[in-house]
Amino acid sequence: MPKSSPTSKTPEKSTLPAVTLSSRGAARLKSGHPWVYRSDISAADGVPPGATVRVLDPRGKFLGTALYSSSSQIAIRMIAREEVTDLPQLISDRIRAALAYRKPLVAHTDACRLVFSEADFLAGLIVDRYNDVLSLQILTQAMDAEPVRGAIIETLIAELHPAGILDRVDPRIRDLEQLPPRDSALLWGNKSSTVITMNTHLESGVRFHYDALEGQKTGAFLDQRENYAAAARYAHGDALDVFCYHGGFALHLAPRCSAVTGVDSSRPALEVADKNTALNQREIEWIEANAFDLLRDYAAAGKKYDTVVLDPPAFAKTRRDLHKALSGYKELNLRALKMLRPGGILITCSCSFHVSAADFLQTVASAALDAHKSLRILESRGAAQDHPILLNVPETSYLKCLMSHVSH
Ligand code: SAH
Repeated sequence: MPKSSPTSKTPEKSTLPAVTLSSRGAARLKSGHPWVYRSDISAADGVPPGATVRVLDPRGKFLGTALYSSSSQIAIRMIAREEVTDLPQLISDRIRAALAYRKPLVAHTDACRLVFSEADFLAGLIVDRYNDVLSLQILTQAMDAEPVRGAIIETLIAELHPAGILDRVDPRIRDLEQLPPRDSALLWGNKSSTVITMNTHLESGVRFHYDALEGQKTGAFLDQRENYAAAARYAHGDALDVFCYHGGFALHLAPRCSAVTGVDSSRPALEVADKNTALNQREIEWIEANAFDLLRDYAAAGKKYDTVVLDPPAFAKTRRDLHKALSGYKELNLRALKMLRPGGILITCSCSFHVSAADFLQTVASAALDAHKSLRILESRGAAQDHPILLNVPETSYLKCLMSHVSH
């Protein structure tokens, strides 16, 4: 964790409440992971929900400062190696650091993730930029506290001058954190919807409608932004974008392909996709269907494509789902491969953290064997660089995106 200014090295005089870890909890922190589970805490007497706490090992040695949750299984999220005396100031400094980190990395777009929780040393906070609209997700008791919310909003206004800042509330998370219910709403300014342009460097930058008060996640899958541009380099012929949502891949493929079809089971998502087609003056066919059924029927009917994108939702939400998830990925990839002509391109993704890159590769390889196809990997990619991967925090690395050439 980076050193920050509002800290002191004299925890003996601290007024912060203390949490004592078991030796297993202390060992976990020493391995570099910032989380400690409730079962690894030996004492947290009288610590209020969302408190900033001193973390002590079983012998009382100071290990650093953390944000405490009284209800989550993740009871402790480390925030600094030193004692933190002014949390709102620290949060403000860290937001500025997150913006500075992205300056040299993010170009050719007006939409990106500005703060990615642990990966920006701001556990429990996500901030996305959609042109002149900012969208916040506050995921923990500590980030929800009024002085912290105030510091977040003030810093974003001062640094970015947005037209609107929105709070996107996930009721399930507020419930888990035992926070009072809140609705998604404007926190500042008067603008909640806008038009974004991803990948302006492509021959024609692709534009998307964005409405902060609707849609999944924060409204667009920003983590795929660089993969859209990479996919456009290889796509050709007849293309099928499966799990297309608002058409992120399909719209980027359209200028390179003779025909593009997008498939999703969500009608509201396809309605936005259709508006995006008009916005970009493209022609794309959108089909509302269950992707598993559609691929099975199309493969059985002998349909052929030159480019297929598979970008399903996370099949493995927990480690227990791993086996089922892998068989889901295998089935999708097998059917897609059967439909790909020689020289075709398969772009296949997994956003399940519990499915490792090695498991995913093995699953696609096994699907290729069963489909009697030889694949060569063009690129093995992950999330865009505005979603940093923090070493020692494997949860920050979740997206896999393989681009392969079907040789014969
Ligand atoms: N490729 C998209 C993101 C896909 S997110 C992009 O780049 O923006 C996953 C999508 O899968 C969601 O839009 C969801 O509606 C859709 N989905 C989930 N289950 C499905 C199913 N069984 N068949 C078709 N679509 C499904």
